[in-house]
Amino acid sequence: MEIYVPDIYEKDIYNIKYDILQSRGIKYLIFDLDNTLVTIKENLPSEETKELFKNLKKMGFKLFLVSNSFKTRVKPFHDELNVSYIYSAKKPHINKINELILENKIGLDEVAMIGDSMIDDISCGNTIGITTILVDQINKLEFPYARLKRIKEHRIQKKLRNRDLFTKGRYYV
Ligand SMILES: [Mg+2]
Repeated sequence: MEIYVPDIYEKDIYNIKYDILQSRGIKYLIFDLDNTLVTIKENLPSEETKELFKNLKKMGFKLFLVSNSFKTRVKPFHDELNVSYIYSAKKPHINKINELILENKIGLDEVAMIGDSMIDDISCGNTIGITTILVDQINKLEFPYARLKRIKEHRIQKKLRNRDLFTKGRYYV
């Protein structure tokens, strides 16, 4: 069950303490797209997201978008935010992210994975052995393929809460 527990848990991507991450040696940030950056109804990043990404780049972070969605969904965000991206990533399978880490010669202690899904994002990052950051999903609306996973995730959350391993809404760095 510990594989689903994030290293850090924040309300959203704007509340993450990026300066603390940097002081811990994190140089690369892998962002999930759906319900992490935007709701599934939005097809372009907001001004707020653009501003955040601009500032993170200014701080010296290298940014990646890694999404299970198709290219047609992910590419517009790549174009607007000007970051490297992977579509159809098949998270929680680790292959695509492992490739990304190897190709860019990234140390496991230099990269953090940020997402709203304990199954797709957190368990994937924990399996690889990188820093994992959970954020709350922006909106309850999901793509059909994500709905079943969310039901499973609610069961996982209940078990973790009962064992006092993780409680939704109790944020920590
Ligand atoms: Mg997501």
